[in-house]
Amino acid sequence: MNTEDIIKEVKKLIKTIIPPSIEITNIELEGPDIAIYTKNIEEFANNNDIVRQLAQGLRRRVAIRPDPSLLIETDRAETEIREIIPNEAEITDIYFSPDSGEVSIEALSPGLAIGKHGSTLNEIKKRIGWAPKVVRSPPIPSKTIREIRGYLRTVIDERRTFLRRIGRKIYKDISDEENYVRLTALGGYREVGRSCTLITTRHSKVMVDCGVNVGSEENGSPYLNVPEALPLEKLDCVVITHAHLDHAGLVPLLFKYGYDGPIYLTPPTRDMMSLLQLDYLKVAVGEGRKTPFESVHIREAIKHCITLRYGDTTDITSDIRLTFQNAGHILGSAIAHFHVGDGLHNVAITGDIKYEKTWLFNAAVNKFPRLETLIVESTYGGHKDFQPHRKESAQQLKRIINQTISKNGKILIPVFAVGRSQEVMIVLEQLMRLNEIPKVKVYLDGMIMEATAIHTAYPEYLNNQLRTQIFQRGENPFLSDIFVHIDNAEKREKLCDDPDPCIILATSGMLNGGPVMEYFKAMAPDKKNTFVFVGYQAEGTLGRKIQKGAKEVQIREKGKPINVGIKFNVETCDGFSGHSDRKQLLNFIYNLNPKPERVLMCHGEESKCLDLASTIHQKYNVETRTPMNLETLRFV
Ligand SMILES: [Zn+2]
Ligand SMILES: [Zn+2]
Repeated sequence: MNTEDIIKEVKKLIKTIIPPSIEITNIELEGPDIAIYTKNIEEFANNNDIVRQLAQGLRRRVAIRPDPSLLIETDRAETEIREIIPNEAEITDIYFSPDSGEVSIEALSPGLAIGKHGSTLNEIKKRIGWAPKVVRSPPIPSKTIREIRGYLRTVIDERRTFLRRIGRKIYKDISDEENYVRLTALGGYREVGRSCTLITTRHSKVMVDCGVNVGSEENGSPYLNVPEALPLEKLDCVVITHAHLDHAGLVPLLFKYGYDGPIYLTPPTRDMMSLLQLDYLKVAVGEGRKTPFESVHIREAIKHCITLRYGDTTDITSDIRLTFQNAGHILGSAIAHFHVGDGLHNVAITGDIKYEKTWLFNAAVNKFPRLETLIVESTYGGHKDFQPHRKESAQQLKRIINQTISKNGKILIPVFAVGRSQEVMIVLEQLMRLNEIPKVKVYLDGMIMEATAIHTAYPEYLNNQLRTQIFQRGENPFLSDIFVHIDNAEKREKLCDDPDPCIILATSGMLNGGPVMEYFKAMAPDKKNTFVFVGYQAEGTLGRKIQKGAKEVQIREKGKPINVGIKFNVETCDGFSGHSDRKQLLNFIYNLNPKPERVLMCHGEESKCLDLASTIHQKYNVETRTPMNLETLRFV
């Protein structure tokens, strides 16, 4: 069905569902949504059933939007809002969602902003047209989120044009010639890093993830220059499972090379992806390395993001529908489920998954309406890859900390800014609160605080327990006074010289640059100190070398190589991992509903992929494959 046919169909349906008193001023296809514009937005708001009936009748996402003539310009609207709301409400942010005609007002005292029986809000609505929504300010303000919102406000018109272009493409007419479904491995197969998969059908070309291998100088990028992927302008869309650099690090590069289409991801993934990409540039510049893209390309990427929540099914091309489900790995991480054609084939790509409830997230989802092919990560798929239970890991960490502090030493924990840091923070806060370890300062260096702020802005993505603790009991572990933010070289140097025992969490997680390097240099030569790995160390990284017991390593200082002797104690606490261990991976497959016809391995060293594939085949009697990079498989 083409655009005009769809609009005709919408009009027909509207006549049967919507009372004639509601005036429809325009119907547009905007990205994956059918946008219906009206001057009677309130009547829709009061009647949820109409929207549901339209969405069901059309089998598409329907968005009801206020007629643009009703909305006053955002700068003026903001001035009006600040005039009407009393100062005591303490507004921390105001942001506009042009897609829905809503304006969100973040305030420290939401009650005062709303007014008696909503009187203040009604006044605002009358004056500016935008529908005001008051929300409590997140407990830790995030600079990233503020900047992204501010930026999006400057590109409202551009975005509307972009969404309409994409809408027309998604709903283009397609022929009923024989269809097919293929997968091409462009990176991250039989290896960890540079994850990138291409799904092609007769009508669509979808890229899933576009990561960078941070441990590699030469093979850092996926195979983007092969005929299957080129020209990038011909890709229909890019889908990002989660924000880590090995999945999203090179998204800006696609825009540098001429890609101009949408990126589908969850809202927290958009924000954290931008944070990590900016950090990636900063670290590269700091080390005098050439950067693959510039910050303008990060902004281009943000402009092209279309965010989807878990469970929202969305048309992303003329013959593919996408649904994200919780992957349990980091904030906003998703399993991408693709429904191709009208029931032709169903493929799910797990991204990185944790099939266990953690301190932060619920376990990965493994129930799908239909599923024929699953592509599963295999990081810990080897036959020896069992992790201790997370409670045992907390005990192990407790023991390590107590031993080190009793010797007057310091504990250094290299972490990814996103994911492990917050898990470790929660455990440390709990251990100190229960007096299981001495109350020493926990220093956070390099983006950790900012990533934590983003976590507190999206409480609906945290597990139920943590949400209750934060919002009903008012105990936010992230706000504990044990945490101290380190944000400049001077403080860092002072901390290195400070003789008192303490705990330091610093990025990067695999020691490929970042502030952790300064602490490493200062602390490695002293045997009183302890170094604790809590995350995966990829082949080729400095972290892996130290974990394997190197006595001396070479690092770069201002571009020059220097040698660092390692005397400190090195420990690994595996149970903090955001990845499933072998048992969890096998359970994930065993409990899959429905059982797929075939399972493909990715995101694991070759031996682990092969090992996991043969076990899954023997145990569950499904076809398994371990594609190599550049291999193409046909499913239908
Ligand atoms: Zn990850
Ligand atoms: Zn990964």
